[in-house]
Amino acid sequence: MKKYQASSWNLAEIRPNNVEKIFAEIEVKTKQIEQGRTQLKDTISSTDLLSLLAELEELQILNSKLGTYAQLWFAEDSSNQKASALLSQVENFLTKINNRLIFFGLWFKQLPDQEAVRLINASGKYRYFLEKMHKSKPYILDEKEEKVINLKDVTGVSALNSIYNILCSQFQYEFEGKKIGQEELLTHVRSPSPKRREAAYRTLFSKYKAHKDVIGEMYRNIITDWREENVHLRGYKNPINVRNLGNDIPDQAVEALLKVCEKNEPIFHRFFELKRKKIGLKKMRRFDLYAPLQKKKEKQIPYHDAVSLVLETFKDFSPAFHQEALNILQADHVHSQVQKNKDTGAFCCSVTSKLNPYVLLNYSGTLRDVSTLAHELGHGIHHNLARKHTEFTFHAPLPLAETASIFSEMVLSERLLKKYPDRARNLLFTKLDEIYASIIRQAGFVRFEIKAHKMLEEGKTIDEISKMYLQDLRKQLGPKVEVDEIYAYEWCYVPHIFHTPFYCYAYAFGNLLTLALYETYKQKGPGYADKIVEMLAKGGSQSPLEITKAVGADITSEKFWQSGFDVLKILIDKVDN
Ligand SMILES: [Zn+2]
Repeated sequence: MKKYQASSWNLAEIRPNNVEKIFAEIEVKTKQIEQGRTQLKDTISSTDLLSLLAELEELQILNSKLGTYAQLWFAEDSSNQKASALLSQVENFLTKINNRLIFFGLWFKQLPDQEAVRLINASGKYRYFLEKMHKSKPYILDEKEEKVINLKDVTGVSALNSIYNILCSQFQYEFEGKKIGQEELLTHVRSPSPKRREAAYRTLFSKYKAHKDVIGEMYRNIITDWREENVHLRGYKNPINVRNLGNDIPDQAVEALLKVCEKNEPIFHRFFELKRKKIGLKKMRRFDLYAPLQKKKEKQIPYHDAVSLVLETFKDFSPAFHQEALNILQADHVHSQVQKNKDTGAFCCSVTSKLNPYVLLNYSGTLRDVSTLAHELGHGIHHNLARKHTEFTFHAPLPLAETASIFSEMVLSERLLKKYPDRARNLLFTKLDEIYASIIRQAGFVRFEIKAHKMLEEGKTIDEISKMYLQDLRKQLGPKVEVDEIYAYEWCYVPHIFHTPFYCYAYAFGNLLTLALYETYKQKGPGYADKIVEMLAKGGSQSPLEITKAVGADITSEKFWQSGFDVLKILIDKVDN
């Protein structure tokens, strides 16, 4: 095996020789497509439509290569002024290009059923892309109305969202004698000192409480707009149905998911109690939920060993996983070394379906870093397995986007528990913190939103919905976790609740789905790995319901979601000794 060393990545495959030339090329192609606009009639032939789609796809590849290059170059070193200038130039340029192309979707969505079905049936590999657009047809208004809504949104709901962002991003916090911003303040909620954690949370939420009238008024108007437009004008069944149809997930699946999440909150009550003992507290408070474990100095794992460990794990799981991970590593698409001014954290970024995606890590040799390597390569594997699909259908939809990554972490964690039992158990503790935050907490946000939308329609006040939030949070965390009154305003600080109502359940969906699939894999044995690979290979070419059905999962049943929690119970048993 090749000797792997933490290193930079090779961007040669996407680096433009001459940026101006690419801009010009994109401009020409966009113009060509715009000229094709005259063909967009109900009677368009399927051949003409397919060739237009092929052109759109070609343009998308050009745009994506340019955009990704600018983004990745900047991610490597944010102090590089040339990279930062290119990034903003490219972003501006591509936004304008994309605005010029939205006519296609608008046209397709309003096609009469008969014509849409005729074209969808002849669209081959583009099928789901068109099908999904067509599904929103019943909710489209006539062109004049759509134009008015678009125009009024700019100064209406979009403006409210911008004001929310401006207000909150300018918050300055007085903390331990210094004025700091929110990002810095948030690092203290994970402080080893209980006092500092409490102070950080109090400082944070007191600011939102002080502005609750303004923030509350924004929220009331945002969701009134959501209801009036979507439910009363467009005819969606209810506020959350808008999001469900956007995600192409049946209402029943989301209802089952939320219900099962609520039912299983007590599993985490036990975990919080274990955590309290582990960090040596007399009383567990909400302030302490993300407290770090006592840090012992960890012996570093060399990068080569991390890669070997992950590759071996993949090999045991499925040859396809192993091969696709290897492809990414051998293409030199992983930026693993720690360097100054590089993006913190980790991500996997895809360019086009035909190229290996790029992975960014900050590998410092901890067990957590090894797990992150598996997670991000998991995303890359998912991407590569789906490469045969079009640019519009290879990306897994949001609720399925974390399947391969979390699955990879799960199979790796079994190996880690054998190889480094103590350290792996500590890692599992931190993972369970994250699982709480991505499943139970997110499901809680969405249940809050469902109630808040209803209460505000009934004329209830912001104080009343904040009180409801606090009550539900206390119930969620259980009788042994003390939740201070200041948490009543926590919802004010969650941007998704304002910008993209009901978005948060996608996190719970993706995480719990993967745990449930993992449980099935444990029961059915290695043969099931092929099924998982087949499922991932569908990318985003079918609806989440169809994709998951193919592996025997029924996302509309509570029993299925419950099996995800059964895995969690086992994980909690593992940290309990
Ligand atoms: Zn991920």
